[in-house]
Amino acid sequence: MSTEKNKEILRGGQFLVKETPCEAVFTPEDFTEEQKMMRDSVKEFVDREIWPKKEEFEKKNYQLTEDIMKKLGELGFLGVAVPEEYDGLGMGFVSTMLVCDYISGATGSIATAFGAHTGIGTMPITLYGTEEQKKKYVPKLATGEWFGAYCLTEPGAGSDANSGKTKAVLTEDEKHYLISGQKMWISNAGFANLFIVFARIEDDKNITGFIVENDPENGISFGEEEKKLGIHSSSTRQVFFNETKVPVENMLSERGNGFKIAMNALNVGRIKLAAACLDAQRRVTEGAVKYANERVQFDTPIANFGAIKYKLAEMATSTYVGESASYRAAKNIEDRIAIRQADGNSHAEAELKGVEEYAIECSILKVACSEDIQNCSDEGIQVFGGMGFSADTPMESAWRDARISRIYEGTNEINRMLAVGMLVKKAMKGHVDLLGPAMAVADELTGIPSFDKPDYSELFAEEKEMIAKLKKVFLMVAGSAVQKFGPQLEEHQQLLLAAADILIEIYMAESAILRTEKNVKRYGEEKQTEQIAMSKLYLYNAVDIIGQKAKEGIFSFTEGDEQRMMLMGLKRFTKYQNMPNVVALRNEIADKLIEENKYCF
Ligand SMILES: Cc1cc2nc3c(=O)[nH]c(=O)nc-3n(C[C@H](O)[C@H](O)[C@H](O)COP(=O)(O)OP(=O)(O)OC[C@H]3O[C@@H](n4cnc5c(N)ncnc54)[C@H](O)[C@@H]3O)c2cc1C
Repeated sequence: MSTEKNKEILRGGQFLVKETPCEAVFTPEDFTEEQKMMRDSVKEFVDREIWPKKEEFEKKNYQLTEDIMKKLGELGFLGVAVPEEYDGLGMGFVSTMLVCDYISGATGSIATAFGAHTGIGTMPITLYGTEEQKKKYVPKLATGEWFGAYCLTEPGAGSDANSGKTKAVLTEDEKHYLISGQKMWISNAGFANLFIVFARIEDDKNITGFIVENDPENGISFGEEEKKLGIHSSSTRQVFFNETKVPVENMLSERGNGFKIAMNALNVGRIKLAAACLDAQRRVTEGAVKYANERVQFDTPIANFGAIKYKLAEMATSTYVGESASYRAAKNIEDRIAIRQADGNSHAEAELKGVEEYAIECSILKVACSEDIQNCSDEGIQVFGGMGFSADTPMESAWRDARISRIYEGTNEINRMLAVGMLVKKAMKGHVDLLGPAMAVADELTGIPSFDKPDYSELFAEEKEMIAKLKKVFLMVAGSAVQKFGPQLEEHQQLLLAAADILIEIYMAESAILRTEKNVKRYGEEKQTEQIAMSKLYLYNAVDIIGQKAKEGIFSFTEGDEQRMMLMGLKRFTKYQNMPNVVALRNEIADKLIEENKYCF
């Protein structure tokens, strides 16, 4: 057996029921030399070509976006995820995340154009295309000779993506489909050469995917550019198809497989979207730190005020945590792909299954990172005071650009419900054993708690125990809810949303602690002082959120003794023996940022 096969890695969702040793998580500090070089060259490009034109990107300069995309193509950045045989760079999943992360930080317009082209505009062909389709289209997309767009959404079909009315009718000679319908909110529509279009054949239950070349002579027309809150230079238009003739050989995968393609493309899109929020957060945090050091009020730089330190510390912490969780999941996906390939799967099959395995984590990350960049840029505005509200400073556009990430690639409500729904399904299929641990928690609730004084002398001993207890909170609430409602659980959306928040906080907090623990082991505790503080601060906040959400859930479906017992359990599972001094933690983190005058973690 190959070493890849021997390697034991967690299955998607298993983080909840298995303890992960810190050595098993990949962290940004584990980047290879090649990955670091890639990161530096992307950063250098963004700092030279995109960041200085930030103001221009607010002026709806769609041509500028197209020009930058062309340059990205020439430099090979559009083909990082594309196998070499189709003129891409064939890089591993972590490297593709890294490129997406650092390309996306300066403006949401490029983040969106890049994401729509390389992700949902190209991936459906690399993952589901026939050899002929791949040979014909992928090299053009990988090099930026052509640009791609993804046409799923319609006026009447947004979150309910499989309900689209666009039709595909087979011609009498059976050589073509005629596609007719209206697609809405299509990113890159203004300069795309190729569309991935989803349409329904006859009265099929599920939609079908097609590759459609842009040709104005072939019944394709466009709406005006949408007037949007943010991402001002990202082209977003309606696309109309009027009996657009598409050769039968341009069907993607099989008839009726479109919904599956659409959803799987979105799994990749979601984790990449999480990555796309990270460098924006680094830049916003850094901008806030620099401003706080420069701006003087009451004869002192505002950075000296506790109120500002609070914000800087929280901004940096959520950035650090987002990085920790995103790269942890990315490496799990990369390893799972390698295992599948070692098992004889083709690259496409391995990638599809590898990402699908971690669809829960992809949804968790999409929600967490999109909300973190929103909060971070909001606080960034606050640090800038009145100047933050001005379009002359970068905070205002960062805040507007961040807003879309909570809406596209599946809204955050849909992703929250998906995360819990998929976990429950995995449990039903026996892929993740939730039932056993949930029953153990139920037994623990009726048992007598231990009054032994635990030994917390080792770093993170209490925090790791807290994570284990928070997992019990999820198992207690979700386990009882599944028992009570069975398949009807999906009708209890507010309960699902609360459970999702518990799940998200656990994954994010655990990822940060494991990253820091791993780095303490190799660099020493004194070199990780602020990282330790950030991990502890995040966990403290997570415990608070989890306590509140769990209470909400428990009150919604229990009463009497059952409710009392669960509330007692919740108290026990969210109790610190030694409460952290979060004010001191925040000061420690902020002081380091202020001293370094940048995001330095
Ligand atoms: C700038 C921009 C770019 C985009 N780019 C693309 C693109 O390139 N290609 C593409 O195909 N699409 C694209 N979209 C569309 C995007 O994916 C959809 O807007 C999104 O999926 C939500 O659909 P909707 O707008 O119809 O909202 P709706 O589905 O109408 O949702 C409205 C609200 O109801 C909630 N909701 C909906 N259903 C449920 C439910 N079952 N339970 C609970 N709450 C629910 C939602 O969470 C949301 O809060 C883009 C959108 C924008 C704004």
